[in-house]
Amino acid sequence: MLCNNCENPICVTVCPVKASYRRRDGIVLVDPHRCIGCRYCMAVCPYDARYVNPRVNIVEKCYWCDHRVDQGLKPACVRSCPTQARIFGDLNDPGSEIGRLLASSPAQVIKPEMGTYPKVFYVEADLDALKTERKEQDGH
Ligand code: SF4
Ligand code: SF4
Repeated sequence: MLCNNCENPICVTVCPVKASYRRRDGIVLVDPHRCIGCRYCMAVCPYDARYVNPRVNIVEKCYWCDHRVDQGLKPACVRSCPTQARIFGDLNDPGSEIGRLLASSPAQVIKPEMGTYPKVFYVEADLDALKTERKEQDGH
């Protein structure tokens, strides 16, 4: 399950050793050196986004490929999706592709009633139009 990297991540709130944290750009991480494998975060995540790595008995999840984002790259799932169904970017930038899309299309999040403010949005978008726009921007 894709982690929503929530703005109000309850997984971070319950972590007794501060192994779970949200960094400045909004990605929620787990510090493997701090995690004690108590699984509290797994129990409270409304999206079942976390799992145990049995090899080291710590909890892990989708990190939106933070190692790639740090290099200015997009997450691997965004890069490799054959239909370009995923769009990744800076929600605070109204001029970004994601910013423009969310401003112009109805979007939903999963379980909004949980108050976690997920940062994964599901948009009814015209992907063909998006692809054409990208090609034009890329000069192809
Ligand atoms: S989806 Fe779950 S694991 Fe991910 S940030 Fe939200 S509460 Fe935490
Ligand atoms: S399993 Fe690790 S990250 Fe999750 S609450 Fe426990 S110490 Fe924190």
